Amino acid sequence: MSEEKSLNFLEEIVEDNLAKGTVTEIHTRFPPEPNGYLHIGHAKSICLNFGLADKYGGKTNLRFDDTNPVTEDTEYVDSIKEDVKWLGFNWEEEHYASDYFVQLYEFALAMIGKGLAYVDDLSAEEIAAIKGTPTEPGKASPFRNRSIDENLSLFSEMKAGKYNDGEKVLRAKIDLASPNMHMRDPIMYRIKKVSHHRTGDAWCIYPMYDFAHGQSDSIEQISHSICTLEFEVHKPLYNWYIEQLGTFPSKQFEFARLNLTYTVMSKRKLLQLVQEKLVDGWDDPRMPTISGLRRRGYTPESIRNFCDKIGVQRRENIIDMGLLEFCIREDLNATAQRRMVVLDPIKLIITNYPQGKTEVLKGENNPEEENHGGYRDLPFSNELWIEADDFLEEAPKKWFRLAPGMKVRLKSAYIVQCTGYTKNEAGKVTEVHCEYIPESKSGEDSSGVSVKGTIHWISTDKSESAEVRLYDRLFKVENPSSEDEDFKTFINPNSLEIITSAKVEPALKDAKPGDRFQFIRKGYFTLDSMLSKEGKLVFNRTVGLKDAWAKEQKG
Ligand code: ATP
Ligand code: MG
Repeated sequence: MSEEKSLNFLEEIVEDNLAKGTVTEIHTRFPPEPNGYLHIGHAKSICLNFGLADKYGGKTNLRFDDTNPVTEDTEYVDSIKEDVKWLGFNWEEEHYASDYFVQLYEFALAMIGKGLAYVDDLSAEEIAAIKGTPTEPGKASPFRNRSIDENLSLFSEMKAGKYNDGEKVLRAKIDLASPNMHMRDPIMYRIKKVSHHRTGDAWCIYPMYDFAHGQSDSIEQISHSICTLEFEVHKPLYNWYIEQLGTFPSKQFEFARLNLTYTVMSKRKLLQLVQEKLVDGWDDPRMPTISGLRRRGYTPESIRNFCDKIGVQRRENIIDMGLLEFCIREDLNATAQRRMVVLDPIKLIITNYPQGKTEVLKGENNPEEENHGGYRDLPFSNELWIEADDFLEEAPKKWFRLAPGMKVRLKSAYIVQCTGYTKNEAGKVTEVHCEYIPESKSGEDSSGVSVKGTIHWISTDKSESAEVRLYDRLFKVENPSSEDEDFKTFINPNSLEIITSAKVEPALKDAKPGDRFQFIRKGYFTLDSMLSKEGKLVFNRTVGLKDAWAKEQKG
């Protein structure tokens, strides 16, 4: 019997609405502001909005909340669309709040006409100064009681460009004594003589978030407008605009934003990392952005699975980065092809194997798949690359790799016994010598010899060179945003290790961006889509093999 998953609180609300008939069609939206690239927190919101509509036969719009021309850009619009699609979601309609500028302006005129909005000549600072505190009422601006006609003409002059930035604003006329500061005559429009990435110079007045967002929801007939908890205090204002204008009764619901350990999750902070060149761009594989995770080798399935596992809560918490790593490891263990790569190579010479002979052995592609995922060719010869740290001149107890006299299995090949080694003048081991046991070939071993260790290897004459990039956490502390200090002081200076000496097996020569592999004993890797080119292989480590998180959960 399959386990019934209990409903999350939003699903409960939706089921209750449908049962009571207060809502007949579920219509959600994902409303990013195009002022940065999407991060894993947005993925949670995407999975939630699309997932909810999908589950109840509804639909989801993609809406760009582009009401602040100063920070927005089409580069961000394009990347957001790419990321949502890559995550596996298809939006019903694509909208831009800027497409509603005319309609929003008309709504504003209607508000003025009802005596519910006025043009104020005070500056933003002056308005803030008389706004009062949660326990003390605010003071009225001397311009609060302008006549409807005067307000209409001033507002149209604002639109026509007669005034400079900050000279005038349009404010809603609500309640200066409200305990909710957002209800104390909030600003609806401000003047910004800045070109907009879509409307160009058509407008010099731009609507504020609360007015634009709720009315955009209404225009699109969004039934459930889902946002993060910090907007809970904005809800009375959201509802007020809808009531006064009599527009479609969209309803707002809040959930806790996703926080992850060892990273930051705000576009403003991520932008700083990019602008100050502390990372290699928005898609740097260390970034918690969707594009960074994609370049790092994460799959859409693993991210969706992660979002499913963390669920939806109403209280803020911080999720262990180890859970995200667990999700990608679980996915790649089942799907990634196995390959052999030596990161720090030294030579292993098999003295009793004929020089010049090449034998083509078979390596299983993936033991987790049916029929091992098929087999690949593994050329074998008397001269191999092995990992330098798989050999020790003097073996400690419980050392099951190579050392003088010790035996080890070469993965998918033969058992070898170490017979000696050579060192250079600096005292560094340059070559390890061994003899192989001809009867010990993998799959047809009749040698009767058993060994405890298996190591990976590559035939030197058939190997390819590659660069391998190993990543560590971007920050040294669990919660870089919680301290009083600037979050950037917690950056991990060793978050990227570039290895240029790697040797890879011939089957990796034709790797393509997006291919994902398990490098045996080394972790999961993908070909870097930006740095690899004809004749140059660059691999990113997605995640290591060790599953610290699962162990912790058990222990
Ligand atoms: P940031 O603080 O990173 O700039 P934002 O909320 O300003 O985020 P938007 O582009 O406005 O970014 O967000 C689009 C949607 O994604 C919103 O509904 C927002 O609530 C949601 N969202 C943003 N960050 C998170 C997060 N960490 N967890 C869950 N949802 C998020
Ligand atoms: Mg925002």
